Amino acid sequence: MAKPLIYDLDFESLNSTLAELDQPPFRTQQLWEGLYTRLYTDFSQFSNIPKDLRDSLSKQFIINPLRVQKSLRSQDGLTEKVLFALQDGTSVEAVLMRYERRNSLCISTQVGCPVGCVFCATGQMGFVRSLSSGEILAQVLHFMRQLQAENQKLTNIVYMGMGEPFLNYEATMDSVRRLMDQQGLNFGARRITISTVGIIPKIEQFTEENLQVNLAVSLHAADNALRSQLVPANRMFPINKLIPVCKAYTEKTHRRISFEYALIDGVNDSREAALALAGLLKGMLCHVNLIALNPSKKYSLQGSPKAKVHAFSATLEEQGIPVSIRLRRGVEIQAGCGQLAGAEITA
Ligand code: SF4
Repeated sequence: MAKPLIYDLDFESLNSTLAELDQPPFRTQQLWEGLYTRLYTDFSQFSNIPKDLRDSLSKQFIINPLRVQKSLRSQDGLTEKVLFALQDGTSVEAVLMRYERRNSLCISTQVGCPVGCVFCATGQMGFVRSLSSGEILAQVLHFMRQLQAENQKLTNIVYMGMGEPFLNYEATMDSVRRLMDQQGLNFGARRITISTVGIIPKIEQFTEENLQVNLAVSLHAADNALRSQLVPANRMFPINKLIPVCKAYTEKTHRRISFEYALIDGVNDSREAALALAGLLKGMLCHVNLIALNPSKKYSLQGSPKAKVHAFSATLEEQGIPVSIRLRRGVEIQAGCGQLAGAEITA
């Protein structure tokens, strides 16, 4: 049987584990520091901890649950997708995107995804299981170590990879808290974004957390019939119920919400669709991110051409809705939004 992952323990649980091993409380701090500020990968690296304790910890726990199965870089070298094998033989992907002044990492929260958005390679593979908080964090730690070796830093983390983070709410939020922990990684909340298709009760719960973490909602259509076709979760959490909950989030937290909108040629990219979207979002503290849909194997429709993307953006702007066009990144290595598919890595 696989050993438990030490990154699944929060500070309190680690403290109790060490107390059971008759260790004084300061050992928890030492271990925490090794795990979260020195980013050790092996218990033998904890030179400030007695050897017999290191030995008993390594008999009980593992530090790194991920094995790099494959790593692919885009032609320009700026996007890197890594396929990680987990201890149980399943796999997930994470994508590092390098920009001039920032390094942004897209991480997964589930193996596969139960939501089944029709255009998404992860959705097309079905749902296998949810990741633990430690398995989510391990993806971040892998890239932090890599960037550290290059004298660089990870600047942004987006929960937008495989899976629906709010269908794995506890592990997702535990990992977020661990990222933000000032005694550890101390990663700024405002540099973290969680993306959801709109799981209403979890957006409400997230609102109550009142964190500075960013929230993005994948909308893709402004009317229920079309959105239900594209994002099946809309049948349970329809737009007319979702939008008021998003509004309540912005009113309670005073934080801007992002809406993701993948433009599909001839499906959701008309001027009427843009006007409907503007009508829906009018007056809300929000921002729309447009991206032309990335290709995925089992979805035959195409992303909108550039001219249509710009026209859609112009209509939103004309209606007073803040909007950006997101660049497609790593499409040739299937590292773009909606292209992650774990074991199906082929390039
Ligand atoms: S787009 Fe996100 S929520 Fe939809 S199937 Fe893909 S991973 Fe799941």
